[in-house]
Amino acid sequence: MKETWEIITAQAQSHDAVLIAVSKTKPVHEIQRMYDLGQRKFGENRVQELLDKVHVLPDDIEWHMIGHLQRNKVKDVVPLVQTIHAVDSLRLLREIEKQASKVERRVSVLLQFKIAEEESKYGFDSDSLQEAANFAIQHCKFTKVIGLMGMATFTEDLVQVRQEFSRLHDQFKVLQLGLFANDTDFKELSMGMSGDYEIALEEGSTMIRVGSLLFGARH
Ligand SMILES: *Cc1c(COP(=O)(O)O)cnc(C)c1O
Repeated sequence: MKETWEIITAQAQSHDAVLIAVSKTKPVHEIQRMYDLGQRKFGENRVQELLDKVHVLPDDIEWHMIGHLQRNKVKDVVPLVQTIHAVDSLRLLREIEKQASKVERRVSVLLQFKIAEEESKYGFDSDSLQEAANFAIQHCKFTKVIGLMGMATFTEDLVQVRQEFSRLHDQFKVLQLGLFANDTDFKELSMGMSGDYEIALEEGSTMIRVGSLLFGARH
């Protein structure tokens, strides 16, 4: 575990990116082991599992909610996490702002842009993305949009994966130079998992979300 963690951390650093260690399904003692190596950013995608883990692990862990989030779970998540990666609808963004304002807590979010060809993948298209970004700029006081997130198609075709990441990077640039031109916090691009993080880094990722390669396969 140590050697893999060191290699991926160094790869991320050499691209000015950070590693989010995706610890979903993994027991707290394994998370603690990686914490002891120096890892501080961990990603979970189930709310109940996050709640169970947060309270028994060190306070200075920065928790990232990485998966699809249901609106009725937002109030549980907002007090605990630093960043929500997969904001995929305006209704979800509104709910995050509502709950964040209730507890007066700042929460960073990434808007999920749909790059994969699969029907099942969540995310905005270009038009709805603009709409959500506009809403955030005009109405969000506690919710800070810090960038975009995406997931490539699950395929062996690495040329396709690279094209999808490249498209996400282009979309990111459009917003960064456009709507967010005066906002230096809009600078993150969350893309890349165990199977494709090296391609993602080459295509401009600033946050890689790696699970199974670090912790071993999930059962
Ligand atoms: C599980 C998950 C990951 C990590 O996947 P691995 O292939 O195990 O690295 C990354 N992002 C999201 C949104 C996930 O749900």
